[in-house]
Amino acid sequence: MTAETTGQPVLRVEDLTTEFDTAGGTVRAVNGVGFAVAAGETLGVVGESGSGKSITLLSLLGLLPANGRVVSGSVRFGDLELIKASERRLQQVRGGGIGMIFQDPMTALNPVMTIAQQIDESLRRHSRGLGRRGRRARVVELLDQVGIPRAARRADQFPHEFSGGMRQRAMIAMAMANRPAVLLADEPTTALDVTVQAQILDLLQELQRETGTALVLITHDLGVIAEVADRAVVMYAGRVVEEGTVTQLFHDPRHPYSRGLLRSRPTLAAVAGAELPAIPGQPPNPARLPEGCAFRPRCDRSAGRDACLSRPELIMIDGGHAAACHFEAETEPAELGRSA
Ligand code: ADP
Ligand code: MG
Repeated sequence: MTAETTGQPVLRVEDLTTEFDTAGGTVRAVNGVGFAVAAGETLGVVGESGSGKSITLLSLLGLLPANGRVVSGSVRFGDLELIKASERRLQQVRGGGIGMIFQDPMTALNPVMTIAQQIDESLRRHSRGLGRRGRRARVVELLDQVGIPRAARRADQFPHEFSGGMRQRAMIAMAMANRPAVLLADEPTTALDVTVQAQILDLLQELQRETGTALVLITHDLGVIAEVADRAVVMYAGRVVEEGTVTQLFHDPRHPYSRGLLRSRPTLAAVAGAELPAIPGQPPNPARLPEGCAFRPRCDRSAGRDACLSRPELIMIDGGHAAACHFEAETEPAELGRSA
């Protein structure tokens, strides 16, 4: 891959719907989700815990737990339809054309193999042309690239000999090993302290600039989105409720949920000297979604209006900015007062 942005999506998700069988019945955790990401672009996926971010990612990789299944939708990776692909094909894609980084590197790294052995295994599987020496050189090059000091020596250490930040760097090295066209990162910095978080985000951006990888970055933290994303989708109760460029979302958020997330950002509140106004209430249990707009019970804009009893579609506002709210053009009076 060269570091160019073609504008053509390398990954396109359409109308993805995922259900789980549970003791309490069928639960729809992902409900008609769609997004696309192009080479060199960073797409943020943001929402509170339980909004369906991780399940979206696991759905498109064919990694759902046994009680889950994709019931409809399409995931195109280049010319390949991942939803219909065989497990064999998906194994070629995972860690090959699509790299993955998860929140906790300890669950993704094998504790009884050295870092070098684990990266080597991935190179053997996906980059067949490399001989033993070529792979070793690549392992050291990768670890060096992700900022692991004395990479040649540290390559032969085990995960427990690495700090949390170094483990996450090793995970990133592994994810990038086969020069993936797409990198999927699920809360890659959530388990790390703030300083290390910033370093890992810088690293991701730097690697992306060098390789032109399309990055899908899942986070519950709007600060992370502001820092690294070009565009973002906001998820609530398994749906995309707003989508736009970072500028559109931060300067002109249209969905009351996006506005609520923005208001509850600690940095903004600290700047304004205000208390932390988190969105009141809890995200709904997907087994018992409210009728109509799932955000209705927590919404300070709806004010009990009947329109909200029917589900709003995601409507394009302008230039790639879309929101799923019957009253997207309204601004809450309370909010105007607050920002003054
Ligand atoms: P997040 O946005 O925090 O990543 P998830 O995608 O992990 O949220 O989960 C979304 C919802 O999917 C959860 O709130 C839960 O209701 C449901 N879910 C996830 N995993 C399972 C499972 N194994 N069985 C049943 N429901 C599940
Ligand atoms: Mg998650």
